[in-house]
Amino acid sequence: MLLSRLLLVLFCTSTLVHAKTNPSWTTSIAPFRIADNLYYVGSQELASYLVVTPKGNILINASLATSPLQIRASVEKLGFRWTDIRILLNSQAHADHMAGAAEVIRETHAKNMVMDGDVSVVETGARADFLSPSPSIPTYTPVHVDRVLHDDDIVTLGGVTLTALKTAGHTRGCTTWTMRSHLPGEPAGTSRNIVIVGGTGFGSEYHFVATPNHPVSYPGIVQDFQHTFAVLRTLPCDVFLGAHGGYFDLLTKLEHYPQAGPPVFIDPAGYKDFVADAEKTFEQALAKQQAAATRKS
Ligand SMILES: [Zn+2]
Repeated sequence: MLLSRLLLVLFCTSTLVHAKTNPSWTTSIAPFRIADNLYYVGSQELASYLVVTPKGNILINASLATSPLQIRASVEKLGFRWTDIRILLNSQAHADHMAGAAEVIRETHAKNMVMDGDVSVVETGARADFLSPSPSIPTYTPVHVDRVLHDDDIVTLGGVTLTALKTAGHTRGCTTWTMRSHLPGEPAGTSRNIVIVGGTGFGSEYHFVATPNHPVSYPGIVQDFQHTFAVLRTLPCDVFLGAHGGYFDLLTKLEHYPQAGPPVFIDPAGYKDFVADAEKTFEQALAKQQAAATRKS
């Protein structure tokens, strides 16, 4: 009896991990303003951003299949119309940022713009992901890509410009979005560099070094990660944001938001630390895999 209960607990725990139903991913938080034309409309941990323009709005990250209802509630709570979303962008093609895309597109008719390396993943609902099939890569409803983005492409709408930087490795088309904008409460005429980091993490399934038993996850994955860190290291960043709230310590910053307002997200040091930590983690994992491969050969 005790054993079966233990097994049940173990089973459920691993199922939860694999299904990625971390409660913070689905816990609502009140939407808030970050810059004059940029709002947070995501959950506690899965970041979605609304960029507002006079010609309609841009949504970054549709998140989980269950997220659009929550995102819509946040957009409407801010006083914007759901159907005014003209363009859907994303940080990366994994289910936690893209599974809700089919519903968002169906309801808003937004144009779906995706970085080149992630197009086949999005159009197969993650079945073309280099880790698929895997319990850590949930599939989702495939969505058509209307515009294929390439590194350093710009997306413009209503006088607002976002730059798409290909920061691949985590996925082959992982995208870091940048824009410049004025922050409420700051002197008129000033603007800040805003960076929305796409993702730099990896799990035990990522193979950076070919071994007799396993090829690399995809050819060029190491070069992609190293390029990503080189890009992120030199990127000017005042306002530090990302695809996950945990990247930029969203919940802690939100505690200070009522007093500090949007400038609480100005955190160039936090950004530099995040990038340095991520690069160190990657280089250590790479060295470990290289050492293991050398021992085996
Ligand atoms: Zn991911």
